[in-house]
Amino acid sequence: TISMLAIDENGDLYGACTTSGAAWKVHGRVGDSPIIGAGLFLDNEVGSAAATGLGEAVMRTSGSAMVVELMRQGKSPMEACKEIVERIYKIYKNRPDLEYLQIGFIALNKQGEYGAYCLRPGFNYAVYDEKDGNRLIDGEYKI
Ligand code: ASP
Repeated sequence: TISMLAIDENGDLYGACTTSGAAWKVHGRVGDSPIIGAGLFLDNEVGSAAATGLGEAVMRTSGSAMVVELMRQGKSPMEACKEIVERIYKIYKNRPDLEYLQIGFIALNKQGEYGAYCLRPGFNYAVYDEKDGNRLIDGEYKI
């Protein structure tokens, strides 16, 4: 999944995501990316969030919507992403295929603060702003 979150000079938020879907997916599988609230969610009063990784886990937790709700309650973008990754980990931690599970969220709030968190290494994200230009950031991870 490639997702993009943005904020403009008026403080308005934007979000989009694309996906190739999952390898060996069942015919007709939709995945989380086109489901608002799962792969992508935005509330222009609070912030925006987007997911990558196992779509079934993201849909099961309404992941991106929950990240935005946690920011509404005062969590930073990174704290909000972390809480939902940990919620997913709790559900999946005893599965024999855990080693193949990756989940990552990016989030941006109305103040322009951003953050991300993922289940395991190998997830990085790019940030651009007029002050510092482009940079690539390694996502913090749980396991
Ligand atoms: N989230 C996507 C899906 O499950 C997979 C991806 O990260 O591209 O369809």
